[in-house]
Amino acid sequence: MNRLVVMKFGGTSVEDAPAILRTARIVAGRVARGLQPVVVVSALAKVTDLLISAATTAARGDRATALAITERLRIRHCDTATQLALGPALREDPLAAVRKDEGLAATHAWMEAEFDGLEEVLRGLAVVGELTPRISDMIVSYGERVSSRMITEAFVRCGLKAEYVDARKCIVTDAQHGKAIPQDGPTEQRLKQHVVPHLAEGRVPVMGGFIGATEQGVTTTLGRGGSDFTAAVVGGGIDAGAIEIWTDVDGIMTADPRVCPDALRVKTISFEEAAELAYFGAKVLHPATILPAVKKNIPVFVLNSKNPESGGTRITALATHCKSPFKSIAVKKRLTIMDIVASRMLLSHGYLRAIFEVFDKHKCPIDMVSTSEVSVSLSLDSNEKLPAIAADLSKLADVKYEGRKALVCMVGEDIRGQNGIAARVFQTIRHVNLRMISQGASEINMSFMVEEDDAEEAVRSLHAEFFSDPDPEVFDVEAKRQPVAGSR
Ligand code: ADP
Ligand code: ASP
Ligand code: MG
Repeated sequence: MNRLVVMKFGGTSVEDAPAILRTARIVAGRVARGLQPVVVVSALAKVTDLLISAATTAARGDRATALAITERLRIRHCDTATQLALGPALREDPLAAVRKDEGLAATHAWMEAEFDGLEEVLRGLAVVGELTPRISDMIVSYGERVSSRMITEAFVRCGLKAEYVDARKCIVTDAQHGKAIPQDGPTEQRLKQHVVPHLAEGRVPVMGGFIGATEQGVTTTLGRGGSDFTAAVVGGGIDAGAIEIWTDVDGIMTADPRVCPDALRVKTISFEEAAELAYFGAKVLHPATILPAVKKNIPVFVLNSKNPESGGTRITALATHCKSPFKSIAVKKRLTIMDIVASRMLLSHGYLRAIFEVFDKHKCPIDMVSTSEVSVSLSLDSNEKLPAIAADLSKLADVKYEGRKALVCMVGEDIRGQNGIAARVFQTIRHVNLRMISQGASEINMSFMVEEDDAEEAVRSLHAEFFSDPDPEVFDVEAKRQPVAGSR
């Protein structure tokens, strides 16, 4: 039996000392069951957001505010380390707590050095005033750099044979800062060098998610939410038997429980369905997470660190047959619809290619496409490149675009094979103004665009319609209402 398991804990699972101690207990539980975990941790909750705001503030020349942000982060991390070192020991044996003081001083010393380094970068940035993607990655990497080392020390204090591994030595990426892509071969090689030997010695390697480095050693990040991606890359690289994504909800739910408080846990879902949900906005998984797992057919579990007893969601190669047409509804917000109208070039050969080349040139991904006789409508992530894209396209056609749109995506096995589903969907949300509709690109996804302000109401109406009589084989019908996770 393959006993290797990659356990990834997201920001809320390591937000403070009690959360980190919960995490330690979960890992210890796996070790006690004879499993060999590799732990991947995110930055403490909200730290990445704060680092990004420190970076943008410094780049505007506001050094004082940027440094005030890092000062608060410094205090938060040092306080958390203190609680982790002294908290349990103080309760059990005050003398031991005093003895452990030495270790705590060492922890504070490396932490202070890290935050001094961060401040130095921000001071320089405030002078230069230009935030390059490379500097941005260097700044945001501090979240995972500090959390992973602090959590390793906490694990050791809890009696785990944990070993800190610098993720930048293991995850080799290309140089696309902000959305770097891990390179399979070199990463596997580095994992063999820096992770596998610890496992062989019965130790628990702990590393930060989200961060990596180029072959030349320049720090990169894998995109927001990228710790899930790290977990899958590590799982693929070491041929793990399972990948566990520990978060703050009971698993993949039938909708975001923040939007739909009566969402149900989906007990099992296919790789393909989970990938569609992640891509179309279900934040619970990073869209790139599934691929490395699919390649090696490694099951992925989504579990709740605040409720470890819940069965979670198991993501596997094949979908379990489900009597309900849909498994889950995702929403992706902050989208823009672009309408490209060209009556004279109507259906002419090469026209669509010319349009897509513009998006390619600006490296702008497209979510949804719909065409009519004279126009093409596209949905895109709202971004600063849109005016330049529109300017390029205006050489080919009339262009207009409108932001504040949302994409609602309903995922389920074989939607296309079931008659009357689309009619039921659109009847349910007849009060909502639909902007674009797509069905057919995939058998398991039915998507449409609405105004951003209408999206949540649309999800709630659809959820009430399609999950009132859920299939108990697939959904956790016993569970009480999922409590909405606290604010972060
Ligand atoms: P982490 O910090 O653990 O990576 P995230 O905030 O990235 O956690 O993802 C978990 C959040 O994803 C949940 O709190 C929930 O609000 C949101 N979410 C969105 N869609 C879904 C869904 N279908 N099922 C579960 N959670 C979802
Ligand atoms: N800390 C990073 C973020 O907030 C990565 C992650 O948590 O997955 O985006
Ligand atoms: Mg996440």
